[in-house]
Amino acid sequence: MKREKILIIEDEPDILEMITYNLEREGFAVTSTANGEEGLLRAKREGPRLVLLDLMLPGMDGIEVCRRMRSDPVTSSIAVIMLTAKGEESDVVLGLGIGADDYITKPFSPKVLVARVKAVMRRGTVSDEAQPGDIIKRGVLVIDLTRHEAQIGGEPLALTPTEFKLLHFLASYPGRVFPRDHLISRVIGEDVIVLSRNIDVHIRSLRKKLGDHRDLIETVRGVGYRFQDVRS
Ligand code: CA
Repeated sequence: MKREKILIIEDEPDILEMITYNLEREGFAVTSTANGEEGLLRAKREGPRLVLLDLMLPGMDGIEVCRRMRSDPVTSSIAVIMLTAKGEESDVVLGLGIGADDYITKPFSPKVLVARVKAVMRRGTVSDEAQPGDIIKRGVLVIDLTRHEAQIGGEPLALTPTEFKLLHFLASYPGRVFPRDHLISRVIGEDVIVLSRNIDVHIRSLRKKLGDHRDLIETVRGVGYRFQDVRS
């Protein structure tokens, strides 16, 4: 089996060593750097499946690294888990708003780290379930499951793995309303402790990327979300 690549961007040697040791023991191929700029270059060059990204880094910080990864089609689909210190909660929300898939608060145990890494990786594997050639068309929106790509009016959308899975899931059932908790269990995974409002953050970010077509995802007050009843 192919070893999944993980890139760690972390400037604290002790934490880096602990993460590297535990992920290698789980069979992942791990590379690392203590520098945000270099991390960004490596993400482009090495194409890891997931990046563990420290928030506080000298020079370019984790938020900026994540933002740049998301705005570049080469790196936009790489899963990102932010590593944050206690008391950085507002930064955490910002981190999710700019496209991080999850976050882990320091200090954390190896067990928690490995569980979260595996959970985020599972979320990003929509394409594994899809049959080759599976394409969903909903008006101007086209979702190509094999290529793990979504387009609006022929323009590719730079979606995070979580946003892609969310869009794919909602678009698979046009007109049907899903409560937030349902979306969390179906899209995010029940093994991750997620606050309901985090779904709202992912939806907000997804809508922003849909631009003029943001209304494709409708809010049903007091219930949740639904994809517009568009079937052609
Ligand atoms: Ca740091």
